[in-house]
Amino acid sequence: MATKRKAAAMSGPTEDDDPIDPSDELTFIGLGGCQEVGRSCHILQYKGKIVMLDAGMHTGREGMAAMPYFDDFDLGTVDILLISHFHLDHAAALPYVLAKTNFRGRVFMTHPTKAIYKWLIQDSVRVSNTSSTSDQRTSLYTEADHISTLTQIETIDFYTTHMINGVQVTPYPAGHVLGAAMFLINIAGLNIFFTGDYSTEQDRHLVAAAVPDQKKVGKIDLLISESTFGISTAPPREEREFALLKSVTNIVNRGGKVLMPVFALGRAQELLLILEDYWQRHPELQKTPIYYTGNTARKCMVVYQTYINAMNDNIKRIFRERMAEAEASGNAKGVSAGPWDFRFVRSLRSLDRFDDVGSCVMLASPGMLQSGMSRILLERWAPDQRNGVVMTGYNVEGTMGRTILSEPDQIPAIMSGGHAQSIGRRNKDDDAVLIPRRCSVEEFSFAAHVTGKQNIDFIEAVRAPHIILVHGEKSQAARLKSRLLDNDNKRTASNADVQQTKVYSPENGAEVKIPFRKDKIAKVVGRLAQRPAPTGPEDERVISGVMVQNGFKLSLMAPEDLREYAGLTSTTVLCKQHITLSAAGVDLIKWALEGTFGAIEEVGQLKTEPNGHVAARNGTTKMEATPKEEEEEADEEFTSEPPRTFLIMGCITLKWSGQAKELELEWEGNTMNDGIADAVMAVLTTVESSPAAVKYSSSKAKHHHHKPESEEHPEKQVPSQINGNGTTNGDHQPVNLRNQLANLTPEERFSRLCMFLEAQFGENINPIETPRISHLMQTDSDTKTLKDEAEADSDDEAAIEQRNAALVASERARLAALGIPVPGLEIKVDKMVARLWLDDLTLDCGSKVWRERIMAVVERAVETVAPLWSVGGGAGR
Ligand SMILES: [Zn+2]
Ligand SMILES: [Zn+2]
Repeated sequence: MATKRKAAAMSGPTEDDDPIDPSDELTFIGLGGCQEVGRSCHILQYKGKIVMLDAGMHTGREGMAAMPYFDDFDLGTVDILLISHFHLDHAAALPYVLAKTNFRGRVFMTHPTKAIYKWLIQDSVRVSNTSSTSDQRTSLYTEADHISTLTQIETIDFYTTHMINGVQVTPYPAGHVLGAAMFLINIAGLNIFFTGDYSTEQDRHLVAAAVPDQKKVGKIDLLISESTFGISTAPPREEREFALLKSVTNIVNRGGKVLMPVFALGRAQELLLILEDYWQRHPELQKTPIYYTGNTARKCMVVYQTYINAMNDNIKRIFRERMAEAEASGNAKGVSAGPWDFRFVRSLRSLDRFDDVGSCVMLASPGMLQSGMSRILLERWAPDQRNGVVMTGYNVEGTMGRTILSEPDQIPAIMSGGHAQSIGRRNKDDDAVLIPRRCSVEEFSFAAHVTGKQNIDFIEAVRAPHIILVHGEKSQAARLKSRLLDNDNKRTASNADVQQTKVYSPENGAEVKIPFRKDKIAKVVGRLAQRPAPTGPEDERVISGVMVQNGFKLSLMAPEDLREYAGLTSTTVLCKQHITLSAAGVDLIKWALEGTFGAIEEVGQLKTEPNGHVAARNGTTKMEATPKEEEEEADEEFTSEPPRTFLIMGCITLKWSGQAKELELEWEGNTMNDGIADAVMAVLTTVESSPAAVKYSSSKAKHHHHKPESEEHPEKQVPSQINGNGTTNGDHQPVNLRNQLANLTPEERFSRLCMFLEAQFGENINPIETPRISHLMQTDSDTKTLKDEAEADSDDEAAIEQRNAALVASERARLAALGIPVPGLEIKVDKMVARLWLDDLTLDCGSKVWRERIMAVVERAVETVAPLWSVGGGAGR
């Protein structure tokens, strides 16, 4: 079992059986820094968001060859670019990205990173302008490009979470160098953690990187980790410090010069703290100067003094001590400099001012001896065996820093020109002069990258199911990958429930696609949250509300809570329609509407209650007491009819103006109400044009000067009946308004149902001529026998047809007896077809949503249009 798992793990990502939806895939593209150290630059694509990590240049190369593979990706699509720290292999391509590409996204880094980045890039542009062996690099971007794009860079603090273009970003301290960040990136609920260059070791000035608290931030789904040192280990910090200082003092004691090639910023500051501390405790060394070269370094010390708060407790303690000392001695200057005001370290602007006599310790950049000050000094000091080179940083393949570690007998002199020629000899193969190397070379790791063991511990503590290894040479990444997989196999072998970890170490340009299935979770808020939640799948209560998506966050809330919880304004569209009916009087209007919609509520005053549903389903008419004032007014103004207001189906308010015979319809606009309003309008226009209306209003005109008749003798004012065509078939026959629905003929009910449905679904409603018989076969015992016979004798198709015809005929007769005019109605909207069977009002419809919508209308129609066919007097007529 274990071996099988191991084989599966070794073969790389295994395919799950389920098909993978491409929209669930995260794509990682390494534009640089994959299977190499240098030009860090990665792309993350997930759920339509694109995040770019770092924009570095390869320190071992020049010109375009030092750039990430920007041609492989459209930078114009990037939403966010996060820069982990100021080192050139992570940030030096940024001015190019901002000034020379179609990148339009937002760029973020921490405050100290930006402060140092500013000086560092400026310096590197100037240096390459004056001393680079190649013109290529200068043409990539200029100092002006750098300065003009600085304003585009936004700064964020450690432990602060930012929602940027729908992506959540939180930086964490990475150790490594001042301001270096690890980023927690959350896209649509997916947690991605990018370590950048990091160190978990306590040092003299930086806060060490720590595993983020997954109880707080949630499970990390994908970890992108550096792999600089692969699986190699280093002795404990104290041992390394001791060995380093021993090596330095050995060289000093033998009268030699110590060359410590360092990157101007970052680890140099840590080494200075170590040396300063040691010199402080060893007065015999204090006569030997410690030099720290470079202009940028000097400028950046201001940054180090500024960001003491971003450093660890050791630095803060020294700062407090220095402050107390300065206060005691009345020297205010000491306060501002603090721990970075070195006593035994001298900064050296250039070698012109350097009196190269006697032993010294020299920290000079660049760290990998490619060119510049450290290279000049190497070429100058290498031939003397008393001198020593002490390497402390990581050296990229192809640099002199890497070459010197193999202690070559000779090194090419590229910086010292005539001086080198006098001591060396010309190499036959190229123009470089070779000079002898007799000085000692020693290496101590102070690179502030995690060792193999620290990295493995960190990765295993994070426990992400997917791990991408970057920032490590191919062999280092491969070793780390197989170690991680080995450990994982041991874990999964003892516990079958543990998910197999997948480890990727892609090469530049390769795409890694990782499927992530994330449950969509909507948070229930507001008044919906106050209701008891369903207890489980068997609980049939349904929570319904409005789903609001903000970025990738979903919340479910009641419509009334939209403003408070979603900041959205909900608008109610109030619709009004005016019509003047000169022929039809108010009672006829009311009567006609009741014929179509059932009971109609009369309200004394206009009540605008958009959501108020008034029950008016039991066929009774509610008459509210007329307000006293109005009554008095009516007594005085005997000639005019008072305005009246009706509420139709609880949603349409109909105001009748009285004398002017103007009608105003008012309703809250929505699909359902709009349809009902249309139906009301149809009734009103029919009433107005019907002879009954004319007849009615002419009779009304005779006893015009009375109080509204409806209050006293409503029956007398109403024609006994109008049928579906609006013609009257009775004179002044008294009829009971309350029972009038029962007096409708089936045809009338049918035509009103049709009218109602047409108002909802348009013209495409057609009668179905052939009754259905399928339901009879299943329910009726007689026909069941027929069906059984038909099955038994399935060859005899003619017999089946005959029986079916008989069934159709008997069904048609049954429906006719009930007074049902046609078996059913076919409702067509767009491509949807639904069949409504009239006898039991069942609906055949393929779409659930569509069926529910039609059923809601039908139910409402049936409630209001008429009692069912089988009920009461209607069927008998
Ligand atoms: Zn770095
Ligand atoms: Zn790096």
